[in-house]
Amino acid sequence: MKIKTVLLALTLLLFALFFLPTKAQAAEVVATGDVSNGMTWTLDSDGVLTINGSGKFNRGSTQAPWLKAFEDQVKHLVLGEGITSLASNSFDDHNALVSVTFPRSLTHIDDYAFSNCTGLQSVTIPNTVTKTGRDIFERCTGLTSVTFEEGFCADAPSMFSYCTGLTSVTLPSSLKRISQSMFSDCTGLSHIDIPDSVTYIGSYAFSGCKNLSSISLPGTLKHIDDKAFEDCDSLVSVTLPGSLDRVGAFTFHSCNALETVVLEEGILYVSDNMFSACTKLKNVSLPSTLLLIEYWAFAGCTSLTFIQIPENVAFLKEAFYGCSSLQAIYLPKGLKGLSSTVFGWFYRYAPPRHILFGGSPAEWEQLGYENGSSKIHYNASPADYDIETNTCRICAAKSMQLANRVFTVVIGVAGVAGVALIGTGVCLVIVLKKKKAQ
Ligand SMILES: [Zn+2]
Repeated sequence: MKIKTVLLALTLLLFALFFLPTKAQAAEVVATGDVSNGMTWTLDSDGVLTINGSGKFNRGSTQAPWLKAFEDQVKHLVLGEGITSLASNSFDDHNALVSVTFPRSLTHIDDYAFSNCTGLQSVTIPNTVTKTGRDIFERCTGLTSVTFEEGFCADAPSMFSYCTGLTSVTLPSSLKRISQSMFSDCTGLSHIDIPDSVTYIGSYAFSGCKNLSSISLPGTLKHIDDKAFEDCDSLVSVTLPGSLDRVGAFTFHSCNALETVVLEEGILYVSDNMFSACTKLKNVSLPSTLLLIEYWAFAGCTSLTFIQIPENVAFLKEAFYGCSSLQAIYLPKGLKGLSSTVFGWFYRYAPPRHILFGGSPAEWEQLGYENGSSKIHYNASPADYDIETNTCRICAAKSMQLANRVFTVVIGVAGVAGVALIGTGVCLVIVLKKKKAQ
């Protein structure tokens, strides 16, 4: 009897150990099959698609009707250890997909691999990935959080462009380049920390990030390419580090909230259209190292009232085309040429009311500037313009002098008239007295 009881207990225990747990853990296999090259796939009832094998996963265009057939059921993708790369468009348009688990063996991800997976919520890019194609996660509009593992440093063009739900991005301190269009049109992004390791920001990297309200650029940055921050309509101020030796065209073009820009000492030029159509731009601080301001650099900055051109800038071309609020500009003594179209032409001709020139009248003549209706003050200094009150101190002082003169003349005339009046009165009294005495 005792043995029977023990055997029964053991049977129950074995049942509990092996049968019950496996039944509780494993979802049922819905479907399974071969991919290619000995790679297999299994989809379970929890929506987990597991791919096992080694080498490159390539569903091809026609070889994977299974993937298409179960597209709406794949919620979690688990790529097994051994898989080294994912071919172009591997899992694009899988809208039910919520998460992806990458293996440590993965090194390459090709173009559009997860493009338009709108249900994907967060993703961690492993540092084993050394090569990526373009647009890997573009238009994953449900994606809110992105993390790169420390060590990641691959080029990733357009990786998250049009990920409009993205609010949190963690960049690793190993990253050297922010690739072309990497975060373009991520309209949910309000802030991003760019690590000190970054030396390059590619063209369109953050263009169209309409809610990006602050960005801090590291003092290691060497190069920002064309239109990197174009149409960032929430950006209020930006400081460009002195380490920059190349800045592309239209970098901050049409940033409609941008009020303050500081270019730190070390920067040599303002690129063409760099701040054009920044309609709120008011405070511009340029470094003494500046040598060149390119065409249309500040064109259409309709809120700009005053700008001080640093001493080493030698030529000015159409930099201030259509700056219709420009009241005054300071031009340095060292200026060698000033284009007659520097303030625009035809109906967009908007010259400042006051030009404060650091040089002499003879030096002004050398510039060959024509077509001006501004009041020119020679041997002036930037301090001759009061930015706070938007007044030209020289003109204010002159009008004060004029007022003083008018006052003196009035007092003089009044004094003389008074004396004459009193004299006449006294004479009249004397004459009348003499008449009475007779
Ligand atoms: Zn003036």
